[in-house]
Amino acid sequence: MKITATPYELELRHPFTIAKFSRTSTPIMLVEISYEGCTGHGEASMVPYMGENIETASAFMAKLDLSWAKLPFDYDEIIAYLDSIAAGNPNIKAAVDIALHDLQGKLDNKPCFEYFGAEQTKMPVTSITIGIDTPEVVLKKVKEAGPCKVIKVKLGRDTDKELINTIRSVSDKPLYVDANQGWADREAGLDMVFWLQEQGVVLIEQPMAKENIDDNAWITERSPIPIIGDESVQRLADVEKAKGVYHGINMKLMKSAGMHEGYKMIRKAKELGMSVLIGCMSETSIGTLAGAALAPLCDWADLDGPFLTRNNPFKDPEFKDGKWVLSDLPGLGLKK
Ligand code: MG
Repeated sequence: MKITATPYELELRHPFTIAKFSRTSTPIMLVEISYEGCTGHGEASMVPYMGENIETASAFMAKLDLSWAKLPFDYDEIIAYLDSIAAGNPNIKAAVDIALHDLQGKLDNKPCFEYFGAEQTKMPVTSITIGIDTPEVVLKKVKEAGPCKVIKVKLGRDTDKELINTIRSVSDKPLYVDANQGWADREAGLDMVFWLQEQGVVLIEQPMAKENIDDNAWITERSPIPIIGDESVQRLADVEKAKGVYHGINMKLMKSAGMHEGYKMIRKAKELGMSVLIGCMSETSIGTLAGAALAPLCDWADLDGPFLTRNNPFKDPEFKDGKWVLSDLPGLGLKK
Protein backbone atom coordinates (compact mmCIF):
# COMPACT_ATOMS: atom_id res chain seq x y z
CA MET A 1 0.00 0.00 0.00
CA LYS A 2 1.46 3.33 -1.05
CA ILE A 3 0.51 6.32 1.10
CA THR A 4 1.15 9.98 0.30
CA ALA A 5 0.19 13.17 2.13
CA THR A 6 0.24 16.56 0.38
CA PRO A 7 -0.47 19.91 2.06
CA TYR A 8 -2.96 22.20 0.29
CA GLU A 9 -4.25 25.65 1.19
CA LEU A 10 -8.01 25.83 0.57
CA GLU A 11 -9.05 29.45 0.00
CA LEU A 12 -12.38 30.78 1.22
CA ARG A 13 -14.55 32.96 -1.04
CA HIS A 14 -15.19 35.37 1.83
CA PRO A 15 -13.33 35.81 5.12
CA PHE A 16 -15.24 33.53 7.46
CA THR A 17 -16.32 35.02 10.77
CA ILE A 18 -18.12 33.23 13.59
CA ALA A 19 -18.66 34.24 17.21
CA LYS A 20 -15.03 33.70 18.21
CA PHE A 21 -12.71 34.32 15.20
CA SER A 22 -12.22 35.08 11.49
CA ARG A 23 -10.04 33.53 8.72
CA THR A 24 -9.49 33.56 4.91
CA SER A 25 -8.18 30.04 4.14
CA THR A 26 -7.95 26.58 5.68
CA PRO A 27 -4.94 24.22 5.62
CA ILE A 28 -5.81 20.83 4.16
CA MET A 29 -3.83 17.61 4.04
CA LEU A 30 -4.69 15.58 0.96
CA VAL A 31 -4.07 11.87 1.55
CA GLU A 32 -3.79 9.24 -1.18
CA ILE A 33 -3.65 5.50 -0.50
CA SER A 34 -2.92 3.28 -3.50
CA TYR A 35 -3.24 -0.48 -3.76
CA GLU A 36 -3.48 -2.86 -6.72
CA GLY A 37 -3.79 -0.05 -9.27
CA CYS A 38 -6.53 1.86 -7.40
CA THR A 39 -6.10 5.11 -5.44
CA GLY A 40 -8.31 6.25 -2.58
CA HIS A 41 -8.49 9.97 -1.72
CA GLY A 42 -8.98 11.47 1.71
CA GLU A 43 -8.62 14.91 3.22
CA ALA A 44 -8.02 16.48 6.59
CA SER A 45 -9.55 19.95 6.81
CA MET A 46 -7.69 21.56 9.68
CA VAL A 47 -9.71 24.49 10.94
CA PRO A 48 -7.54 26.24 13.55
CA TYR A 49 -9.88 25.83 16.54
CA MET A 50 -9.60 22.03 16.37
CA GLY A 51 -5.87 22.29 17.05
CA GLU A 52 -4.41 20.34 14.11
CA ASN A 53 -2.11 21.74 11.43
CA ILE A 54 0.23 20.61 8.64
CA GLU A 55 2.97 19.77 11.18
CA THR A 56 0.77 17.60 13.43
CA ALA A 57 -0.77 15.88 10.38
CA SER A 58 2.68 15.20 8.87
CA ALA A 59 3.93 13.79 12.17
CA PHE A 60 0.88 11.51 12.32
CA MET A 61 1.31 10.33 8.73
CA ALA A 62 5.00 9.57 9.37
CA LYS A 63 3.91 7.03 12.01
CA LEU A 64 1.17 5.47 9.86
CA ASP A 65 1.82 1.89 8.74
CA LEU A 66 -1.08 0.08 7.10
CA SER A 67 0.93 -2.87 5.78
CA TRP A 68 -1.00 -5.14 8.17
CA ALA A 69 -4.47 -4.07 6.93
CA LYS A 70 -6.30 -6.82 5.05
CA LEU A 71 -9.18 -6.44 2.59
CA PRO A 72 -12.06 -5.95 3.12
CA PHE A 73 -10.90 -3.37 5.67
CA ASP A 74 -12.02 -3.93 9.25
CA TYR A 75 -12.72 -0.31 10.14
CA ASP A 76 -13.16 -0.94 13.87
CA GLU A 77 -9.65 -2.35 13.84
CA ILE A 78 -8.37 0.52 11.70
CA ILE A 79 -9.88 3.22 13.95
CA ALA A 80 -8.46 1.47 17.04
CA TYR A 81 -5.05 1.47 15.33
CA LEU A 82 -5.32 5.16 14.38
CA ASP A 83 -6.30 5.98 17.98
CA SER A 84 -3.25 4.04 19.18
CA ILE A 85 -0.95 6.34 17.15
CA ALA A 86 -2.28 9.46 18.91
CA ALA A 87 -5.27 10.21 21.13
CA GLY A 88 -6.55 13.32 19.33
CA ASN A 89 -5.98 14.31 15.67
CA PRO A 90 -9.48 13.46 14.34
CA ASN A 91 -8.88 15.54 11.17
CA ILE A 92 -5.97 13.47 9.88
CA LYS A 93 -7.60 10.23 11.08
CA ALA A 94 -10.64 11.21 8.98
CA ALA A 95 -8.37 11.69 5.96
CA VAL A 96 -7.05 8.14 6.32
CA ASP A 97 -10.51 6.65 6.95
CA ILE A 98 -12.03 8.47 3.95
CA ALA A 99 -9.15 7.45 1.66
CA LEU A 100 -9.59 3.81 2.70
CA HIS A 101 -13.34 3.94 2.01
CA ASP A 102 -12.70 5.47 -1.43
CA LEU A 103 -10.03 2.83 -2.11
CA GLN A 104 -12.27 -0.02 -0.89
CA GLY A 105 -15.11 1.20 -3.14
CA LYS A 106 -12.82 1.33 -6.15
CA LEU A 107 -11.43 -2.16 -5.44
CA ASP A 108 -15.00 -3.53 -4.96
CA ASN A 109 -16.34 -1.45 -7.90
CA LYS A 110 -19.02 -0.10 -5.53
CA PRO A 111 -20.07 3.47 -4.60
CA CYS A 112 -19.30 4.29 -0.94
CA PHE A 113 -22.88 5.23 -0.04
CA GLU A 114 -23.96 1.63 -0.67
CA TYR A 115 -21.82 0.39 2.24
CA PHE A 116 -24.04 2.47 4.55
CA GLY A 117 -27.39 1.66 2.96
CA ALA A 118 -27.83 5.30 1.91
CA GLU A 119 -30.18 6.24 -0.96
CA GLN A 120 -30.51 9.36 -3.08
CA THR A 121 -34.29 9.43 -2.45
CA LYS A 122 -33.60 10.25 1.21
CA MET A 123 -30.97 12.94 0.53
CA PRO A 124 -31.78 16.08 2.56
CA VAL A 125 -31.33 19.53 1.02
CA THR A 126 -28.08 21.15 2.09
CA SER A 127 -27.83 24.55 3.72
CA ILE A 128 -25.20 27.15 2.89
CA THR A 129 -23.56 29.05 5.74
CA ILE A 130 -23.42 32.81 6.04
CA GLY A 131 -20.86 34.07 8.55
CA ILE A 132 -21.11 37.21 10.63
CA ASP A 133 -20.54 40.24 8.38
CA THR A 134 -21.66 43.73 7.42
CA PRO A 135 -25.24 44.01 6.04
CA GLU A 136 -23.83 44.70 2.53
CA VAL A 137 -21.73 41.53 2.50
CA VAL A 138 -24.56 39.49 4.05
CA LEU A 139 -26.89 40.58 1.23
CA LYS A 140 -24.25 39.60 -1.33
CA LYS A 141 -23.89 36.18 0.29
CA VAL A 142 -27.65 35.64 0.36
CA LYS A 143 -27.66 36.28 -3.40
CA GLU A 144 -24.80 33.78 -3.87
CA ALA A 145 -26.81 31.23 -1.85
CA GLY A 146 -29.12 30.97 -4.91
CA PRO A 147 -29.13 27.19 -5.55
CA CYS A 148 -29.39 26.31 -1.83
CA LYS A 149 -32.88 26.09 -0.39
CA VAL A 150 -31.81 26.66 3.23
CA ILE A 151 -29.47 29.27 4.72
CA LYS A 152 -27.44 28.68 7.87
CA VAL A 153 -26.59 31.79 9.85
CA LYS A 154 -23.79 32.20 12.35
CA LEU A 155 -24.98 34.17 15.39
CA GLY A 156 -23.55 34.87 18.82
CA ARG A 157 -22.96 38.62 18.82
CA ASP A 158 -25.08 41.59 19.91
CA THR A 159 -26.06 42.26 16.27
CA ASP A 160 -27.86 38.91 15.90
CA LYS A 161 -31.36 40.30 15.32
CA GLU A 162 -30.08 42.86 12.82
CA LEU A 163 -28.37 40.08 10.83
CA ILE A 164 -31.57 37.99 10.71
CA ASN A 165 -33.61 41.06 9.73
CA THR A 166 -31.13 41.83 6.92
CA ILE A 167 -31.55 38.31 5.51
CA ARG A 168 -35.31 38.42 5.93
CA SER A 169 -35.44 41.69 3.94
CA VAL A 170 -34.42 39.73 0.81
CA SER A 171 -35.11 36.03 1.46
CA ASP A 172 -37.85 33.87 2.97
CA LYS A 173 -35.83 30.63 2.83
CA PRO A 174 -35.86 28.48 5.99
CA LEU A 175 -32.91 29.27 8.29
CA TYR A 176 -30.64 27.18 10.49
CA VAL A 177 -28.90 29.15 13.22
CA ASP A 178 -25.51 28.37 14.74
CA ALA A 179 -24.74 30.31 17.92
CA ASN A 180 -21.30 28.63 18.25
CA GLN A 181 -21.48 28.81 22.09
CA GLY A 182 -21.92 32.56 21.80
CA TRP A 183 -24.90 33.05 24.14
CA ALA A 184 -24.02 33.76 27.75
CA ASP A 185 -27.41 33.93 29.50
CA ARG A 186 -30.01 31.17 29.29
CA GLU A 187 -33.08 33.38 29.82
CA ALA A 188 -31.96 35.78 27.08
CA GLY A 189 -31.05 32.73 24.98
CA LEU A 190 -34.54 31.27 25.31
CA ASP A 191 -36.15 34.62 24.41
CA MET A 192 -33.93 34.59 21.32
CA VAL A 193 -35.02 31.01 20.50
CA PHE A 194 -38.69 32.07 20.46
CA TRP A 195 -37.91 35.19 18.42
CA LEU A 196 -35.90 33.09 15.93
CA GLN A 197 -38.75 30.60 15.62
CA GLU A 198 -41.01 33.48 14.56
CA GLN A 199 -38.42 34.37 11.90
CA GLY A 200 -38.64 30.91 10.32
CA VAL A 201 -35.60 29.32 12.01
CA VAL A 202 -35.81 25.53 11.87
CA LEU A 203 -33.00 24.51 14.26
CA ILE A 204 -30.35 26.07 16.49
CA GLU A 205 -26.82 24.79 17.04
CA GLN A 206 -24.85 25.04 20.24
CA PRO A 207 -26.54 27.98 22.00
CA MET A 208 -24.22 28.11 25.00
CA ALA A 209 -20.69 27.03 26.00
CA LYS A 210 -20.22 23.29 25.61
CA GLU A 211 -19.13 22.96 29.25
CA ASN A 212 -22.40 24.52 30.39
CA ILE A 213 -24.46 21.35 30.29
CA ASP A 214 -27.21 22.56 32.65
CA ASP A 215 -28.03 25.74 30.74
CA ASN A 216 -27.91 24.06 27.31
CA ALA A 217 -30.26 21.37 28.68
CA TRP A 218 -32.50 24.08 30.19
CA ILE A 219 -32.91 25.76 26.80
CA THR A 220 -33.44 22.42 25.03
CA GLU A 221 -36.19 21.44 27.46
CA ARG A 222 -38.11 24.66 26.71
CA SER A 223 -37.31 25.17 23.03
CA PRO A 224 -40.07 24.69 20.44
CA ILE A 225 -37.43 23.97 17.75
CA PRO A 226 -34.59 21.41 17.78
CA ILE A 227 -31.43 22.40 19.69
CA ILE A 228 -28.36 20.66 18.25
CA GLY A 229 -25.05 19.97 20.00
CA ASP A 230 -21.99 20.60 17.84
CA GLU A 231 -18.89 21.62 19.81
CA SER A 232 -20.21 19.31 22.60
CA VAL A 233 -20.25 16.26 20.36
CA GLN A 234 -16.98 15.18 18.79
CA ARG A 235 -16.76 11.38 18.67
CA LEU A 236 -18.94 8.35 19.32
CA ALA A 237 -18.58 8.42 23.12
CA ASP A 238 -20.05 11.95 23.19
CA VAL A 239 -23.38 10.98 21.61
CA GLU A 240 -24.72 9.28 24.73
CA LYS A 241 -23.62 12.25 26.87
CA ALA A 242 -25.59 14.61 24.60
CA LYS A 243 -28.86 12.79 25.30
CA GLY A 244 -31.06 15.04 27.45
CA VAL A 245 -28.81 18.06 26.80
CA TYR A 246 -29.71 18.52 23.10
CA HIS A 247 -32.43 17.27 20.79
CA GLY A 248 -29.84 16.21 18.25
CA ILE A 249 -26.19 16.18 17.26
CA ASN A 250 -24.13 17.77 14.51
CA MET A 251 -21.95 14.99 13.13
CA LYS A 252 -18.93 16.10 11.08
CA LEU A 253 -16.41 13.70 9.56
CA MET A 254 -13.54 15.91 10.73
CA LYS A 255 -14.70 15.40 14.33
CA SER A 256 -15.70 11.74 14.10
CA ALA A 257 -12.35 10.56 12.66
CA GLY A 258 -14.05 9.66 9.39
CA MET A 259 -16.95 7.82 7.79
CA HIS A 260 -16.92 4.64 9.85
CA GLU A 261 -17.25 6.29 13.25
CA GLY A 262 -19.49 9.00 11.75
CA TYR A 263 -21.88 6.26 10.64
CA LYS A 264 -21.82 4.75 14.12
CA MET A 265 -22.58 8.16 15.63
CA ILE A 266 -25.61 8.57 13.36
CA ARG A 267 -26.85 5.09 14.30
CA LYS A 268 -26.28 5.74 18.00
CA ALA A 269 -28.11 9.07 17.91
CA LYS A 270 -31.09 7.49 16.14
CA GLU A 271 -31.14 4.65 18.69
CA LEU A 272 -31.34 7.28 21.44
CA GLY A 273 -34.21 9.07 19.69
CA MET A 274 -32.05 12.04 18.72
CA SER A 275 -31.94 13.84 15.39
CA VAL A 276 -28.82 14.31 13.28
CA LEU A 277 -27.45 17.23 11.28
CA ILE A 278 -24.47 16.32 9.11
CA GLY A 279 -22.08 19.25 8.94
CA CYS A 280 -18.64 19.93 7.52
CA MET A 281 -15.55 22.13 7.76
CA SER A 282 -14.02 23.98 4.77
CA GLU A 283 -13.77 20.91 2.59
CA THR A 284 -13.02 19.99 -1.01
CA SER A 285 -15.13 17.53 -3.02
CA ILE A 286 -13.52 14.69 -1.05
CA GLY A 287 -15.11 15.61 2.29
CA THR A 288 -18.32 16.74 0.59
CA LEU A 289 -18.81 13.43 -1.23
CA ALA A 290 -17.89 11.47 1.90
CA GLY A 291 -20.51 13.47 3.83
CA ALA A 292 -23.07 13.09 1.04
CA ALA A 293 -22.63 9.29 1.23
CA LEU A 294 -23.98 9.45 4.82
CA ALA A 295 -26.34 12.43 4.52
CA PRO A 296 -29.41 10.36 3.51
CA LEU A 297 -29.25 8.75 6.98
CA CYS A 298 -29.48 12.20 8.62
CA ASP A 299 -32.35 14.66 9.17
CA TRP A 300 -30.57 17.76 7.86
CA ALA A 301 -27.40 18.47 5.87
CA ASP A 302 -25.01 21.39 5.99
CA LEU A 303 -22.43 20.30 3.42
CA ASP A 304 -21.48 23.61 1.86
CA GLY A 305 -17.70 23.22 1.41
CA PRO A 306 -17.58 23.69 -2.39
CA PHE A 307 -19.86 26.77 -2.21
CA LEU A 308 -17.65 28.58 0.27
CA THR A 309 -14.21 27.80 -1.20
CA ARG A 310 -12.61 28.89 -4.47
CA ASN A 311 -9.80 26.45 -5.33
CA ASN A 312 -11.34 22.99 -4.89
CA PRO A 313 -8.72 20.76 -6.60
CA PHE A 314 -11.49 18.43 -7.80
CA LYS A 315 -14.63 18.89 -9.86
CA ASP A 316 -17.57 20.04 -7.69
CA PRO A 317 -20.01 17.18 -7.07
CA GLU A 318 -23.31 17.36 -8.96
CA PHE A 319 -25.88 19.56 -7.18
CA LYS A 320 -29.57 19.47 -8.10
CA ASP A 321 -32.75 20.86 -6.50
CA GLY A 322 -30.78 21.97 -3.44
CA LYS A 323 -29.25 18.52 -2.90
CA TRP A 324 -25.96 16.77 -3.59
CA VAL A 325 -26.37 13.98 -6.12
CA LEU A 326 -24.80 10.62 -5.24
CA SER A 327 -22.66 9.30 -8.06
CA ASP A 328 -22.76 5.69 -9.24
CA LEU A 329 -18.99 5.78 -9.79
CA PRO A 330 -17.05 3.41 -7.52
CA GLY A 331 -15.73 4.87 -4.25
CA LEU A 332 -16.60 8.46 -3.39
CA GLY A 333 -17.29 9.36 -7.04
CA LEU A 334 -14.53 11.97 -7.14
CA LYS A 335 -13.69 13.62 -10.48
CA LYS A 336 -10.47 15.54 -11.23
MG1 MG B 1 -21.75 24.49 14.46
